[in-house]
Amino acid sequence: MSHSPTVLEISLSAVEHNFNYFKSIISGDTKMLAVVKASGYGSDSVAVAKLLEEKGIDYFAVAYADEGITLRNEGIATPILVLHPQFQNLQLMSSYSLEPNLYSEKLLCEFVRISKLQGLDSYPVHLKFNTGLNRLGFRAESLEKVYSLLRNEKSLRVKSIFSHMVASEDEESREFSMKQISEFDAIAREFENLWGYRPIRHMTNTSGVLNYPEAHFDMVRVGLGLYGFANDVSQDSKLHNVLTLKSVISQIHEVQSGETVGYNMGYTADAPLRTATIPIGHADGIFRSLGQGKISVKINGKKAPVIGNICMDMIMADVTAIDCMEGDEVILFDCREDISRMAHEAHTISYEILTALGPRIRRKIL
Ligand SMILES: *Cc1c(COP(=O)(O)O)cnc(C)c1O
Repeated sequence: MSHSPTVLEISLSAVEHNFNYFKSIISGDTKMLAVVKASGYGSDSVAVAKLLEEKGIDYFAVAYADEGITLRNEGIATPILVLHPQFQNLQLMSSYSLEPNLYSEKLLCEFVRISKLQGLDSYPVHLKFNTGLNRLGFRAESLEKVYSLLRNEKSLRVKSIFSHMVASEDEESREFSMKQISEFDAIAREFENLWGYRPIRHMTNTSGVLNYPEAHFDMVRVGLGLYGFANDVSQDSKLHNVLTLKSVISQIHEVQSGETVGYNMGYTADAPLRTATIPIGHADGIFRSLGQGKISVKINGKKAPVIGNICMDMIMADVTAIDCMEGDEVILFDCREDISRMAHEAHTISYEILTALGPRIRRKIL
């Protein structure tokens, strides 16, 4: 339980709006999987999952087993796909009804061995196919081999097959994406031929859902979109911002002309200056590269540039032009544009800004 005045507020009504938006653009019989890995992209996976379960989400996905166990311990009952189960965790899957992605022959054989030992029957598993990302997954050529390994296995059943797009947010990569889609489609057909039934087929992430209706197949996997980002300025406006990061002013300094502020004299005052010290730093995910005026915070409705170097636990902002005092609220971000600007200035993507928000920041569900 955190007592920190530095708070990440999570708007569940915004998550619900975003969920409804994605529901509205997929067909009625397409399922939706919500990706809640990395603590729900830095938010609160349990709160987000509880809301979405109530709204009728079909599936959840997490990256690792522990993330799925957290959801189960909090009472989440919806099926959970573990995207990157690890050898050491395979035997935990059935105790927590977690459904592993089996992406390699070695992993598959190990899960077969465990499922027999545990006496499982038709345990749901998922097969991932590599159509270009070269990260996890079987190649199309392995399909017959996989079939030969599984055809007589009663302990497990392939519930879904899936792939992952390389550049679904990038219009210039359309040709590559279309090739991936047709390759996955061919894999799905071949699967049906061999196995004699059709598993759930899925391949799109958030920007894939938006940009490639032909790739929705039977289910879409939405992560970042639920948290308010479409990866595209024109589509972003359809979504609501979920996250607000707030803190308070710890101390105000009257800095004399010629004095410096922060480590390594990162800022030199060329005129008298008022600064506010704020209790959040690079250990909390405010990257050091965002110092030196690259970002501003908002205090009493006005912008205060962050000056000097970002410290581990603190930042300093120029509040010379702002009527404020110790204890006043400071807004680090309260809209998508703020988060996107941070990402831009840190030469990264919004995903990294969100997932870097550290555990010292208190999460508050609205
Ligand atoms: C993280 C992840 C997603 C979600 O991607 P977003 O761009 O956040 O929607 C979907 N599928 C896989 C395999 C992932 O690893």
